[in-house]
Amino acid sequence: METLIKKYCKSKQTLRGLPIRVVISGGGPVGLLLAIMLNETLGNKVEVAIYDKRWKKNGKKVYWKTKKDGNTRRTQVITLQSKLLKLLPSHLLEHLLPNNGFSEVWPYSQDSPIELGRPKNIRIIDIENRLLNYVQNSNVQLIPEKFQPEKTQSLNCDILAICEGVHSQTRQYYKSEFGLADPFPYSINGEHLEDVILSIQVKSGLSTSEAVILTLIQRRFLLNMTNDGYGHLNVRLTKGEAQEFKRSNSIFSTTFWPKIQDGLKLFSIQPNDVMEVNCFNISMKHESRFSTIINYESSSNATHAFLLGDAANGIHFWPGRGLNQGFVSVMSLVKSLQERLLKGNVLRAADYSKHEAVMHMLQHRHKSRAWEAMIRRVGNKSFSIRQLIDVDDELLETNRNQLLNDLFGQFVAISSRLNSRLPNMPNWDMIKERLELLSNETLKALVVSGPWETFWSGGPEIDLNIFYPKAN
Ligand SMILES: Cc1cc2nc3c(=O)[nH]c(=O)nc-3n(C[C@H](O)[C@H](O)[C@H](O)COP(=O)(O)OP(=O)(O)OC[C@H]3O[C@@H](n4cnc5c(N)ncnc54)[C@H](O)[C@@H]3O)c2cc1C
Repeated sequence: METLIKKYCKSKQTLRGLPIRVVISGGGPVGLLLAIMLNETLGNKVEVAIYDKRWKKNGKKVYWKTKKDGNTRRTQVITLQSKLLKLLPSHLLEHLLPNNGFSEVWPYSQDSPIELGRPKNIRIIDIENRLLNYVQNSNVQLIPEKFQPEKTQSLNCDILAICEGVHSQTRQYYKSEFGLADPFPYSINGEHLEDVILSIQVKSGLSTSEAVILTLIQRRFLLNMTNDGYGHLNVRLTKGEAQEFKRSNSIFSTTFWPKIQDGLKLFSIQPNDVMEVNCFNISMKHESRFSTIINYESSSNATHAFLLGDAANGIHFWPGRGLNQGFVSVMSLVKSLQERLLKGNVLRAADYSKHEAVMHMLQHRHKSRAWEAMIRRVGNKSFSIRQLIDVDDELLETNRNQLLNDLFGQFVAISSRLNSRLPNMPNWDMIKERLELLSNETLKALVVSGPWETFWSGGPEIDLNIFYPKAN
């Protein structure tokens, strides 16, 4: 580490003209895309070093640590919207989406219009492998270490881009500069809403369109998979289930395992096709700012710090836009710097006002949408879905036919909206056959969870061209 710091500092004696020196902490998809885009867009006007604690070096190459090294790679399937992909250079896109290297599962939408194609499903492990592979032979310096914010000053960089994900320690270290996040907009009656999600790695026997429709008519289970049926079944737990799971050694020994089995039946997942089971908590807070100045040595010798990706905006994954907004945040910063460098080398807060505005727009657009995936509005009141699906006490009142009818209504509404946007639309008989496999209790949880919300969460997406018409 010390040698690397010295090497980096040594090459900095000529500060502060060009090249602009950028340190990126965190080499997940967002950090890697930033490194690539800065390198490709700004060329020799920029010098980029990127740290990740999940990498290791072997010879000249950097690799992802494996299970043996104590790193479990993430395999969740990510949906990337085609409008976003259009922002990336074509040679990078070819590398990120090689033939047979992605699936098309979700329907056309505002963010994936017919002229640009359906959204693309890719496992996060594949996104990370492809981006790391792409950046290996560039000028970007890959540092397989944990970034330590207390040493930022000695790195003497112009820009620190914090891309460490939702639990960023560097964001925490600079909390006086970035300010604290506010949990109240994402609370109910003053209680910060937190979902606990069971994420089961599975293989489903359903077609992708069947999986999409069964996912959209309710909000207890979410299956996102690739064409071969591999993916993750995510289960929203009630408060009681989450507490019980914490206390138990295994999901199979919990009292609610039969309800999870209903989810497996619904999505045609055989017991042998259940692989790893993980559990994570997810909540949202309103961030106050996304850029700041952390070291003021002199007005022309400061370090400008930016929060990007999940470190900036941790978004509930249910509507699936976390990485999409992370990639847009990268493109905005790159375009903002590109514009500035056309005018000269000095960088001041005012130079990235537009970028800061984009970050707030992304926060507003994506957290508003994601909030609708955590709650259900009834009249003037909001209820957490996790509370609504806690239906044990109401079982006696359950009428199975009525529940199936309710789900039929949700199926009709959704399929009429998607008819021209999703190929091979399943019919009600097929959907009903799957629902018939479930207990009354599970059917009731599906009904009260409500279908995916589309009215409050719909509408226009953030368009970078409004701000950066010239920076291509
Ligand atoms: C179940 C699930 C489904 C999802 N589905 C979708 C979807 O369909 N569509 C979508 O757009 N998004 C989806 N997301 C969200 C998406 O995974 C995240 O938005 C994305 O991973 C964020 O990328 P990132 O690079 O900002 O952060 P991360 O992926 O968290 O990467 C952060 C990196 O920083 C490194 N790091 C952290 N601290 C340090 C340090 N101090 N020094 C060095 N390195 C450090 C970590 O090792 C890691 O590599 C989903 C998320 C989940 C959990």
